[in-house]
Amino acid sequence: MKREHVIKPVLNHHYPTIAYGKGVFLYDDQGKAYIDGCSGAVTAGIGHGVPDIVDAMLEQANKVSFVYRSQFTSEPGEKLAEKLSDLAPGNDYWSFFVNSGSEATETAMKIAIQHWQEQGRHGKNKVISRRMSYHGITLGALSMSGHVLRRRRFIPLLEDFPVVATPYCYRCPLGKTSPNCQLACADDLATAIKRIGSEHIAAFIAEPIIGAAGGAIVPPNGYFQRIKAICEQNEILFIADEVMTGIARTGAMFAMEHYGVEPDLIALGKGMSAGYTPIAATLVKDRVMEPILKGSKSIMSGHTYSANPQSAAVSLAVLSYIEKHQLVSAAESKGQYLMGQLQQMADGILSIGDVRGQGMLLAIEFVADQTTKRPFPFGLGVTSRIIERAFQKGLLVYPAAGAVDGEGDAIIIAPPLVITEEEIDQLVGILEASIQEVI
Ligand code: PLP
Repeated sequence: MKREHVIKPVLNHHYPTIAYGKGVFLYDDQGKAYIDGCSGAVTAGIGHGVPDIVDAMLEQANKVSFVYRSQFTSEPGEKLAEKLSDLAPGNDYWSFFVNSGSEATETAMKIAIQHWQEQGRHGKNKVISRRMSYHGITLGALSMSGHVLRRRRFIPLLEDFPVVATPYCYRCPLGKTSPNCQLACADDLATAIKRIGSEHIAAFIAEPIIGAAGGAIVPPNGYFQRIKAICEQNEILFIADEVMTGIARTGAMFAMEHYGVEPDLIALGKGMSAGYTPIAATLVKDRVMEPILKGSKSIMSGHTYSANPQSAAVSLAVLSYIEKHQLVSAAESKGQYLMGQLQQMADGILSIGDVRGQGMLLAIEFVADQTTKRPFPFGLGVTSRIIERAFQKGLLVYPAAGAVDGEGDAIIIAPPLVITEEEIDQLVGILEASIQEVI
């Protein structure tokens, strides 16, 4: 066998070579078709091979592809920052461009800390997150993440940031039932702040709908409104990690719109360029920038490829494609259809415990016992076996295993927002056959 040089996620696994993509389908070099039921890593929101995006990429490449951020700005970069501000809740954000979701959340953490430093409040340097969370793979982002499997190997290198209860109503970590719970999970933040002291806390970070760390977990009504109030009362900035939920995915341009909450900082990635090129951003509210503008006037972070003009041009083209084809409302209506089909499928499968999510960010949680919600034993690999079987049959779905303290089985179904109802039926048919063959 030919020697391999690319380090892939699993080194003893054979990865097919992809040849091209069109719409919701990917084709490997053997001609096999795959329905992209999870937009890769919930990224390819507008589908593959869209000519408008390739044209925008080429047009910018013919002008200039790269300039360094400390020497020049560019028209696509400025336009993109303005566009994101126009779209974001409250319309008053600055953009710090980076290249991945991990960099976006880590930059948000740094800006939050700097915001307080500029006011002489040097002790405010911890970030609180939730027990079930994933905010990225770099060490700062991982320090803010509860994802047990991804943290485990690096624990000695991570900051010991505090975590609070997850709003996970299917298995409430506080043993309560919504709505009788009075949002005890949100109040857990207030309790933690009291214990630690708000003078030590810069920010609280949360995903509007939890993705990889549990599978499309939607919070109970009123949760984020309560969280925002607690943050304000305690002078703590609220960072919304919209890396997975942002840019139309949940049936709103930003998932925070569902709750009517304006975050102090927003991390964006994935759907921002729909996978056509790497770009991500940290959005920062005017009033969070204020002390920095009055103070040092410089944010101590950045990357060589930050605000890359070609990536910015691609992202602008993706945003106008989303508007032109009304993909925000498509995410809502098609998401409802997909949810209906998944629920119908689940009725006939005993090992499905929960079908949940919002818009086109949906998930299925598998259980050994529907009544007790007992998870499958750790090590049985239910999630990976279902994903593998679906892959063999030509369907891609995304893992959200490890939901329950590193155990638990769930998959995310989040196809491109351009998927048709016929394609959804095809997706659900393959998924049902795959699940039935495994459990
Ligand atoms: N935040 C969330 C909510 C994510 O889902 C992810 C990736 O899955 C990240 C951050 C990290 O993004 P990236 O993989 O682009 O670094």
